[in-house]
Amino acid sequence: MSVLDVYNPADGSVAGQAPVCDEARLGEVIEQAHRAWPGFPPEERREALLAAAKAVSAQARALGELITREQGKPLAMAVAEAFAAAAFLRYNAGLALEPEVLREDRRGYAELVRRPLGVVAAVTPWNFPVAVAAAKLAPALRAGNAVVLKPSPYAPLATVRLGEILAAALPPGLCTVVCGDGALGSALATHPLVRQVSFTGSTATGRAVAGQAADGIKPVLLELGGNDAGIVLDDADPAALAEQVFWDSFANNGQACVLIKRLYVPRSRAGEWVEALAAQADSVVVGDGMVRGTQLGPVSTPAQHERIAGLVAAALREGAKAAAGGKPGEGPGLFYPPTILADVTDDMAVAAEEQFGPALPVLVYDTEDEALARANESSFGLGGSVWSADPERAWPLAGRLECGTAWVNAHADFAPDQPFGGLKCSGIGVENGTAGLHEYTAAQVRCRPADQVSPL
Ligand code: NAD
Repeated sequence: MSVLDVYNPADGSVAGQAPVCDEARLGEVIEQAHRAWPGFPPEERREALLAAAKAVSAQARALGELITREQGKPLAMAVAEAFAAAAFLRYNAGLALEPEVLREDRRGYAELVRRPLGVVAAVTPWNFPVAVAAAKLAPALRAGNAVVLKPSPYAPLATVRLGEILAAALPPGLCTVVCGDGALGSALATHPLVRQVSFTGSTATGRAVAGQAADGIKPVLLELGGNDAGIVLDDADPAALAEQVFWDSFANNGQACVLIKRLYVPRSRAGEWVEALAAQADSVVVGDGMVRGTQLGPVSTPAQHERIAGLVAAALREGAKAAAGGKPGEGPGLFYPPTILADVTDDMAVAAEEQFGPALPVLVYDTEDEALARANESSFGLGGSVWSADPERAWPLAGRLECGTAWVNAHADFAPDQPFGGLKCSGIGVENGTAGLHEYTAAQVRCRPADQVSPL
């Protein structure tokens, strides 16, 4: 069996190896999953998911170390990610999937039942490998399906471990993690026994995956890219809020789908905001995530490091100014200092595209209507936020943001019971909550005439 090397972005060393799944093996795994799912009905799955949640919590430290070595984030964040995965499993174990009575009258009886779909293909990115995987595995398994999950080849190690924990709690074949590149993801999504595709990743790949699923008329759940705007109103105090706004922009080195990726500030206070954010950026400890005290690790992949360096360099050439950071850090690790860019305009690529890295463009506005219009002038629609000393003033403005989740005085604040999804090119469908569980089911209506309903 061939293996793929996984590199540690903090120093370029080999962090571990993952077994590569070839197409023949993929076929066997899917066939086994297809045979396995009907034998383990949804109502019997609660205990298995709770046992898996307990095992994930017990192994959170070991999972965290794998995440840090393959993806780069500081160990405390990586361990928190493992606990978040356990929370997804626990939460979904507790969800009910009862039939919904639609009618019980003179016409007869009708109910809506949420049936499992069969084999679900899940494909995940490298930025939160374990949390994103668990957010798919937990509801898909709870709903009665089998899952074959393919993580990113950049960060598969912790996901393989998560898969082993789940496999140990479930009947054989119900949950398998397979490793490989995009071609394996495509083979998985297009396999005729796969009945649903759940994908998290870039909008470009999501478009390809949607096309693959369309051929087989398979439902898709797509959680894609974002270019979230944060709008600070003129009563928001930079001195008080800069730290929070900074971390809502730079957590995980800006490598999260939902983070502030464009910050709109009122012209009257632009200087104060740039200065306060730059002071935050300059105070951050960047280094190896395994070293205690590190607040931001390396950028996770060479391609991402190159991309962020290119976007910042282009913005500087076009007239932006780096108030903090602005050029790559010292190697051999993929370091890049948190960068605050002033004098940015909406048409610069660093603002117009999803930069997905440690660079925040600060953009100046004159009126709130103008800020909202510019925030909405994006093909993405994942998240957004409005910041104000007066939450009542910000609340209706947040409602005008064209995005799946709009926050007031917060950003990227999630919970397993809070449905999360994107509008426009940011995705189709939601994860989390009961609505997220329902994504992994097909609605079936069962009915019979009144004269054939037994009296209760
Ligand atoms: P990516 O699209 O490059 O890869 C995602 C996954 O798709 C990987 O496992 C990859 O191997 C696989 N893949 C690649 N080509 C494929 C194909 N043709 N068919 C099937 N699978 C294929 O994304 P990435 O760089 O790993 O992750 C970063 C992106 O993910 C960002 O755009 C980010 O916004 C997005 N993301 C979105 C969410 C969300 O919930 N909306 C969460 C995390 C990340």
